[in-house]
Amino acid sequence: MLIVNSDIAQSIRGYGARDYPNETCGAMLGCDGAEGREVRALFPLTNRRDDSPRNRFSITAEDFRAAERAAREQGLELVGWYHSHPDHPARPSEYDREHAWPWYSYVIVSVASGEACDMTSWQLSDDRSAFQTEEIAWAIPPGTIKR
Ligand SMILES: [Zn+2]
Repeated sequence: MLIVNSDIAQSIRGYGARDYPNETCGAMLGCDGAEGREVRALFPLTNRRDDSPRNRFSITAEDFRAAERAAREQGLELVGWYHSHPDHPARPSEYDREHAWPWYSYVIVSVASGEACDMTSWQLSDDRSAFQTEEIAWAIPPGTIKR
């Protein structure tokens, strides 16, 4: 279970729309709790794929270290990665599977004609053979008063 509050969801959608028709990408910082894995902050990255930024993104070792450092500084953990699929469904591609690691959550937002729509989350199986859907629990931002 991935817990995503409305501010975080809005930000991912916003980055996806901003970078359309290219893919947007970044790290998700958060923590694992009793109710699930909660995303608390985002760490946007630059898509380094100059050859085909519309359907691929890549994370460099430097990006990885920067994301881990950012998480540590906020007392959080690097829990996953988000990216957009411009004019494609919010489902992982074969490329995504080949470049994914087990344990992390992979959020994909579909951006159709510049507008963000479906958002899904996935986890790679331990043998790396397939992605499995991870359920998203939508939440209100911490500190928000419920009325
Ligand atoms: Zn993808």
